[in-house]
Amino acid sequence: MDKLSYTSEGRTSAWSTYLQQIDRVTSYLGNLSRWIDTLRHPKRTLIVDIPLQMDNGTIRHFEGYRVQHNLSRGPGKGGIRYHPRVDLNEVMALSAWMTIKCAAVNLPYGGAKGGIRVDPFKLSEGELERLTRRYTSEIGIIIGPQKDIPAPDVGTNSKVMAWIMDTYSMNLGNTVTGVVTGKPIHLGGSLGREKATGRGVFITGCEVASRENINIKNARIAIQGFGNVGSEVARLFETAGGKVVVIQDHTATLYNNKGINISELVKWQNKNKNILGFPEADPIDKEAFWETQMDILIPAALEGQITKERAEIISCKLVLEGANGPTYPDADDVLATRGITVVPDVICNAGGVTVSYFEWVQDMASFFWSEDEINKRSDKIMIDAMSHVWKKSKEKKCSLRTAAYIVACERILMARKDRGIYPG
Ligand code: NAD
Repeated sequence: MDKLSYTSEGRTSAWSTYLQQIDRVTSYLGNLSRWIDTLRHPKRTLIVDIPLQMDNGTIRHFEGYRVQHNLSRGPGKGGIRYHPRVDLNEVMALSAWMTIKCAAVNLPYGGAKGGIRVDPFKLSEGELERLTRRYTSEIGIIIGPQKDIPAPDVGTNSKVMAWIMDTYSMNLGNTVTGVVTGKPIHLGGSLGREKATGRGVFITGCEVASRENINIKNARIAIQGFGNVGSEVARLFETAGGKVVVIQDHTATLYNNKGINISELVKWQNKNKNILGFPEADPIDKEAFWETQMDILIPAALEGQITKERAEIISCKLVLEGANGPTYPDADDVLATRGITVVPDVICNAGGVTVSYFEWVQDMASFFWSEDEINKRSDKIMIDAMSHVWKKSKEKKCSLRTAAYIVACERILMARKDRGIYPG
């Protein structure tokens, strides 16, 4: 399903999905539930108009957003998305999921997210740079290393982060590396950041697979999305002996019963920008992706992909949510009834924000760590968070998603309660 049908066909929006997830956790929060409404209201929402002179001399206007959902536990943290269907509803939901995620893995951050409604593939590099710099100046009034720290998301990368860092620094008059994470290494970026989200999906996936007696070796794996997250998680599962039998991106769905050769597909994608036409796998129908025989499903593209209907036909034992918000609440129920375990986005893909946190700490200290040190520290945070959520789900007899929300909401609402309301 493409994103258009996310809000059509009577489907709930991303923000409604988030609100339903909050509704599901409220009864577990005891006295803290008095404060739950704080999570139903984004703290700060900024919509900006970005005029852009195109290479051919015409002027176009783009709409951009930055939403700070909750800052109770620290500065806002969250990526910036460039995609033709970005809207306020989506950015609000993504910012809220960041609030939950940072608290679930216990990072000292609140949640934020930003985006521009644009197809970055249709702009020249010069247009993309001018768009990014104007957007940065427009949201510059609310971002900063102690206020809100953006990072890459769908359609943005380390180059875009370098432009953001430079524009913010130029406007301020001094270099501020800590204003964004996911920067190039030579500009204060962190070793390990690029691969951190995919690595975290793999680490949490292995943790849960071992608890559920699912053997990774020879497991049949399906991955939707072959970008930053999908390609790295594919590589790691292949290295661990798994067979990635089906991969889908926005251009094609590829199948190979013996397992797709990931390093060859990465080479193909680096040259062609997408997976379409890769000769060592068969192209199949888009919808056939969900019907493929699989043990592990990894959505690593966009939200709103696992619908109730798809949840009824998926054959896997384990879903690892690399993407943010890929599963609808009613689909969650179907998966639970069918005994399929879902490792929720707010834990599963938190490896990226964890190493972003390390990048920010290194920038603040101007002292940089080795990749080995970074991987060890992030693996520990991911495994500890996963174990804590696993125990909570057993104790409360609830899904891993609800357990992760209980852990996160308790931390956020304790902070909210102890800070109190200003003015009283
Ligand atoms: P990316 O832009 O690098 O890759 C996105 C991939 O999704 C591409 O392969 C694209 O072709 C595919 N895609 C887009 N629309 C699709 C569609 N309709 N059907 C099938 N495939 C489609 O983005 P990314 O950074 O890998 O992010 C992927 C997901 O992971 C997003 O939900 C993002 O919010 C989430 N995430 C990313 C990070 C990070 O560090 N990059 C961290 C946490 C969560």
